Formats: sequence, C-alpha cells, structure tokens
Amino acid sequence: MIEVIRKYLWKLQRDGLCRPERVVLACLDDDLYTWAGDEVRDQFEVLKGVLEGMNINSLIFCVPEEPYYSLLKELLEYGVCVSEGTEVIVPEDCETRTFFHEIPVLNRLTVKEAIEALSKRKTAVVKSPLGILSYGTVSLEQAYVSLSSTCFSTSVKFFYDLLVLKESELLRFQQMKETGLKALKALPGPRAVGSLMKGPPGDRLELLGMMEEAGAVLVNTGLVDSFFGNISALFRDSVIFISQTGVCLDELRGAIDEVPLDGTSTTGITASSELPTHRAIYTYTGYRFLLHGHPKITVVLSMYCERECEYRGECYKRCPYRRDLFGVPVVPGEIGSGATSIVRTVPEAFEGSDAVIVTGHGIFTAGIVDYNHPVQRMVEIEKLSRLRYTELLS
Ligand SMILES: [Zn+2]
Repeated sequence: MIEVIRKYLWKLQRDGLCRPERVVLACLDDDLYTWAGDEVRDQFEVLKGVLEGMNINSLIFCVPEEPYYSLLKELLEYGVCVSEGTEVIVPEDCETRTFFHEIPVLNRLTVKEAIEALSKRKTAVVKSPLGILSYGTVSLEQAYVSLSSTCFSTSVKFFYDLLVLKESELLRFQQMKETGLKALKALPGPRAVGSLMKGPPGDRLELLGMMEEAGAVLVNTGLVDSFFGNISALFRDSVIFISQTGVCLDELRGAIDEVPLDGTSTTGITASSELPTHRAIYTYTGYRFLLHGHPKITVVLSMYCERECEYRGECYKRCPYRRDLFGVPVVPGEIGSGATSIVRTVPEAFEGSDAVIVTGHGIFTAGIVDYNHPVQRMVEIEKLSRLRYTELLS
C-alpha cells in the first residue's frame, strides 16, 4: 500500500498537478494508510473525518501547482454560480459533461461541508486553503483521475472564458489577461518528442510494444491527462488493437483488446468507448494507426467560435458549419454511438485530413505505418493552438 501511495504522489508531481508537500491523502485498505505533506498537514484530521463518514476507500486533498493554482484562484473570483443553493463551477468541456456535470465549491474544508459535496459529486474545490478534494470508492486511482480531471476542466474553462471576456467585458479581460498569459507559459506540455519505433510491425508483439511506447509518450508530453484518451492500430487489415476503457495510457501492458475489424465478435466490451469511431476510420480510410488525446488549448480553441448562430450552447453536438483550425477539420460529436455521436462525424472528416478535432473534446490523429506521424501531428497542433491563443489575447 505504501508503494501505491508513493506511485500516486509521483504521478501527481509528474503531471505537474501538485507537489507531495501540498498533498494530504488517506486510503483505507485492510488498514488506514496516509500521507500528509508538510504544507497541508493541518487538513489531515478533516480528511480522516470525511473518510470515516462516507462509504469510500480513498481521499485526496491538494493545493495545486501553477498554473492550476492561479487559474483556480481567478475562477473562484469570477466563475462561481449558484445551483440549488450551492456554489458551483460549471465547465463546458466534454470530460466534465461526462464525469462531473458541475464542481461544488466549499468555503472551508470541514468534515460536514466535504461530505455534503462529495456525496453528490466526485470532486470539490475548496476556497480556503485553496485546493481540490477528490475521492475513490474502490481505489486511489479514482481519486487521482478525478483530481486530474478537475485541473483539466477548470483550466479549460478559464482559458475559454478569457477569450469570451475579450468580446464582452474588456476591462475585466485586461485584468485577467496577465494571469492567462502566465498560465499558458506554465501549462505542462507539449514537449518535443524524439523518434518512436518504426513500423510497419512484423508481428503482434512488436505492435503491442509500439502501442505501449506511444501511449507513454502521449502522457509524458502532456497531450492526454493520464487515462483520458485512447490508442489503436489495425493489424493485418483484420484485427483492431485498442486500449481498454478507463486505462492509463502509460500503463498499457495487458490492457489492450484485440477486436475483429468486421465487428463479428463481442470481445470489444472492455475496449475503449470510442471503438466504433476507430473501427469506422479503419473501414473507410487507409490509416492504420490512431491516437486520441485531449490537448488543453486545442480543446479551448475548438469551443471558441465567433459565429453568431442558433446552435450556441449545442455546438459540441450539432454544429452544421464547416470549421477548421490550421486546416484541421473541427467537427461536433458526443461520445457513444447515438444520433449526434462522433461515429457520425469523425470518420468522414478523415477523408482528406490526417487529423480531426472534436469540439470541446480533443483530437484524433492518424498514421499509415506507425505512431511517429500521429504523435508529431498532435504535438504540432497543440503548439499551433497555443500560438494562436496568444495572438487572440493580444
Ligand atoms: Zn476523448
């Protein structure tokens, strides 16, 4: 268990989310295992109280690193609204729509307030001391994922709101612009990537190695937040290799499913929820390697549209216009396989493009022989997005 705690402290630090000194953590296995960083040690008793008062197995509170700290601070000043009597932050990106809906805001970290908030939501933001609280019902992994998602969602919200403020409230925009520019510089990734294993793969073991390598690279370059994202390949024109749903892309060993391209087998149950989209792309295009990630500023720009139209607020699922960022198509679509899902928008957008951006969600990039091109392409698109974002602020 000590090893598990160490692993997540390391992950939180590696992802640029928080330092061990600013984390308190409690995890109930056979025994109670804890960590209390020096700077937040006095929150530990509250955490213990919450863990005892709820039917959960783990809990994390952290004061996040920059830029998340400054963004959260700013967000608490302008971005809190009241829903059913409680203060909440309401982000608009896909991760949040799927996982949180809204993030409750607590004035102080007390047992009572924390239990109330966490019995409704997976995570909460605390005003004083400024930080994020999240829990897991069966594992510490869940608490880590929720915490990571909260940093993702709140930063995407801040960067998006800032662009909109420029049009609506110039004075406020001027005040927040400095924070935005500083935060953009401090945002982890996308780091430059060296050469990956060259394809095409000779056998399935080689392919699995290529997938593990590419998954780790995506996480290490800051292009996905740990388990959000997926990776696949079409092997010998007949079998799709795809990461399982909810799996960390830097821990893909033993977590890749093999599913027939023609859809005759039902072994795809544990496969990524985006399997139907990957399958359609392989069926209708010549691509053999696909990556899907959530680079933050690309997500922000995909949500930002200057067109005044009747689909505002619903553009992520039914925008009827052709949009692009640096020539890369931007399409609407929800997760799943319903009438407004990405299965109906992403595959056809791949005709004539090696990358497709999904509004408020992320990017798919594709390659023909291996993962080198799709990884480079994703890094390039996020870099271009950050440049464009800076231009839009000036
Ligand atoms: Zn996604």
